[in-house]
Amino acid sequence: MQRRKFLKNSSLTTAGLLSVPVLASCKDENKAPETVPPIQAVKPIAVCTWNFGNATAKAWEVLNSGGSALDAVEQGVMIEEADVTNETVGKGGRPDRDGNVTLDACIMDKDGNCGSVVYLQNIAHPISVARKVMEETPHIILAGKGAEKFAYEQGFQKEDLLTESTRKQYQEWLKTSKYETTINIENHDTIGMLAIDANGDIAGACTTSGMAYKVAGRVGDSPIIGAGLYVDNEVGGATATGVGEEVIRTVGSFLIVELMRQGMSPQEACEVGVKRIMKKNEGRKDFQIGFLAINKNGETGGYCVHPGFTYREYSENGHENRQVSSFYQKS
Ligand code: ASP
Repeated sequence: MQRRKFLKNSSLTTAGLLSVPVLASCKDENKAPETVPPIQAVKPIAVCTWNFGNATAKAWEVLNSGGSALDAVEQGVMIEEADVTNETVGKGGRPDRDGNVTLDACIMDKDGNCGSVVYLQNIAHPISVARKVMEETPHIILAGKGAEKFAYEQGFQKEDLLTESTRKQYQEWLKTSKYETTINIENHDTIGMLAIDANGDIAGACTTSGMAYKVAGRVGDSPIIGAGLYVDNEVGGATATGVGEEVIRTVGSFLIVELMRQGMSPQEACEVGVKRIMKKNEGRKDFQIGFLAINKNGETGGYCVHPGFTYREYSENGHENRQVSSFYQKS
């Protein structure tokens, strides 16, 4: 790959290092800001939850041609939203208990701008609607019918999001109407994506059809800024997949970014994030959570409750599906 000017910040030292002030802890609010370890000049990189290699390939294509991290994460996750064989995201996602596909998504840029849609129906690309909310309205979250009306006003087309396969599965499910959150089984596999572009700027996106056969009206963590996704361009970003209720309870992604701000690596921060959840759920084994994080240096890490969660990483070093260590060793 052609080497670019990766960091444009004029405060770079000759060694290519940059110091970033971080907030002192609450106790020390009046003290001078601490300094996190210097930032190495970063290169473009895209990561996403699970083995969604087509999504990271798309994001990489955008980054490699000089595109922004924001365009990379949007276009990357759109691949999964459009893939009808992916039954946990976008068109082809499994419906709620009433048979309606309802989508949640959010996006966040380097300046802390964010947009989100919750309980959105009949639109195949909720991430792009979320971006429009961010860029075209003074708001952050639009929900349900309002979000759908806004999407039509922005030129999005109405589509039937149920497929023959998900319609059939739903008819089967109706026979027992049993709701269970099966570990690692694809009834809940959100795509959360984080990217760093050639300028060293970070953005993130997260999109899902949520838990299959959820109660109508249920919204998970994925469109909640701070829970399913959080980006701070000084520090890094984090995203989550799994049982959203547990991620919301600890504001998981925000927590992980704040832990990185205090000096933890992405790996350490994800581990602490999962352990915080497990502390609130002592002995409970019936759910999966996976966290993925990246820091300003482009280092990545992930951790989960049960074995099985992986993340995709695409950089000039290659395109890999990374295994992630887990809180429990066996499900
Ligand atoms: N976090 C998503 C939700 O709770 C589902 C998932 O990632 O598996 O809606």
